Amino acid sequence: MKYDVIIIGAGPGGIFAAYELTKLDSGLRIGVFEAGNRLDARKCPIDGDKIKSCVHCRTCSIMSGFGGAGAFSDGKYNITNDFGGTLYEYIGRDEAIRLMEYVDEINLSHGGEGTRLYTTAGTDFKKICMQNKLKLLDASVRHLGTDINYTVLGNLFDELKDKAEFHFNTPVESLEKTESGYIVHTSGGSHECGKCIVSVGRSGSKWMERVCGELNIPTSSNRVDLGVRVELTAELFSHLTDELYESKIVYRTEKFEDKVRTFCMNPHGSVVTENTNGIITVNGHSYEDPARQTANTNFALLVAKHFSEPFKDSNGYGESIARLSNMLGGGVIVQRFGDLIRGRRSTHKRLEENFVVPTLQAEPGDLSLVLPKRILDGIIEMIYALDKIAPGTANDDTLLYGVEVKFYNMEVEVDENLESCHKGLYIIGDGSGVTHSLSHASASGVYVARRIAGR
Ligand SMILES: Cc1cc2nc3c(=O)[nH]c(=O)nc-3n(C[C@H](O)[C@H](O)[C@H](O)COP(=O)(O)OP(=O)(O)OC[C@H]3O[C@@H](n4cnc5c(N)ncnc54)[C@H](O)[C@@H]3O)c2cc1C
Repeated sequence: MKYDVIIIGAGPGGIFAAYELTKLDSGLRIGVFEAGNRLDARKCPIDGDKIKSCVHCRTCSIMSGFGGAGAFSDGKYNITNDFGGTLYEYIGRDEAIRLMEYVDEINLSHGGEGTRLYTTAGTDFKKICMQNKLKLLDASVRHLGTDINYTVLGNLFDELKDKAEFHFNTPVESLEKTESGYIVHTSGGSHECGKCIVSVGRSGSKWMERVCGELNIPTSSNRVDLGVRVELTAELFSHLTDELYESKIVYRTEKFEDKVRTFCMNPHGSVVTENTNGIITVNGHSYEDPARQTANTNFALLVAKHFSEPFKDSNGYGESIARLSNMLGGGVIVQRFGDLIRGRRSTHKRLEENFVVPTLQAEPGDLSLVLPKRILDGIIEMIYALDKIAPGTANDDTLLYGVEVKFYNMEVEVDENLESCHKGLYIIGDGSGVTHSLSHASASGVYVARRIAGR
């Protein structure tokens, strides 16, 4: 089988690359290889009833398949260069924003119309945050919600399925460079192409590392973010979430001058588990449909850790901490803030009496046995700092789930075209280490598609 372009991975990066390529050149023969399922066949077996915890499927339906890691996400498309990746360093700040806005237009025209765009421009919260030693980052955020995000993906697939050849449940095993392009090897056969776009996301991080080693593509190690997911009564944060939906707030700790930040805020959302390469961590999302919303808001508090010499494996460090929580709690651990402060574990009984009802069934335990002291101290300090702008954050009943780990792929060396040292081999999205979000990953897909079509 011969293709003009092969795209590896059908997450936002791969989808938007395919979308733009088919739009700009309908004559191109495009093959998309995806390790996971079609969108409608993606189903996590955890039903909270018969199956309560991860059964380690061959491919994780939460992380893999059409839509990638973002398919069941909250669908928050942040239009900003302040966080979500460093795409702007390669393509320029204005171009990065233009592309994110373009992605937003496509989402709106594929089912996202009517959803709200929130912005930090002109908000009074910036000042209130600053007065309390907190910094609110600038962004506009389109909140599609898990349900509309799914609809948009379904519509994009309907539009693309006859224009590109999709191969689901077909993980690419290896990538070979030839005189005229690349050969993609899968267990079902090998496929040739002139140009190859690799967009394998976080779930493909180990594969990406191997391929970079085999093709001698330089990489550099990246960071890992560690912390907890906070869950509290939605009213406590409603003054922030009603206006901004998601507020990215950074705090510098007094003790160590470490930076702690809020991440992935989900008003009226649910806390969920996430499986990355067999390690269970915590995450969160929320629905746009009021009928599916909860009484709680959740968000992560994360501390970034970088390693240089002699230890460089930031992700390995994060994995070890997550494994420790998996070992102690069989998965994710939940603890009341009041119990953490009193130096005692949470128990089922204390949770039953808690004012905040957990949206995830996690094992009650003690996070101080899992998270390093410096990280935990930073998180506690930030909870007290947030308590000043959202009183009640530091209540005893606030729930902390651990651990939340944000793994970053190592950074793959690419040029201003997002092209590797091998001509015609483009590395995009979270798999490149350049992006860490839906909007940046999608924008990187559009960008390389235009580069390829332009050539
Ligand atoms: C629960 C959750 C909630 C999130 N919420 C948000 C949010 O609200 N806003 C936000 O900006 N970001 C969010 N994110 C992050 C966001 O989903 C990612 O940044 C984004 O999906 C990255 O897109 P990508 O295309 O680079 O990679 P991915 O979406 O990870 O897609 C990569 C695809 O490649 C496939 N793949 C991997 N290896 C291979 C291989 N060898 N062969 C073939 N296919 C392969 C995978 O199966 C996967 O489908 C969330 C993530 C999770 C898990």
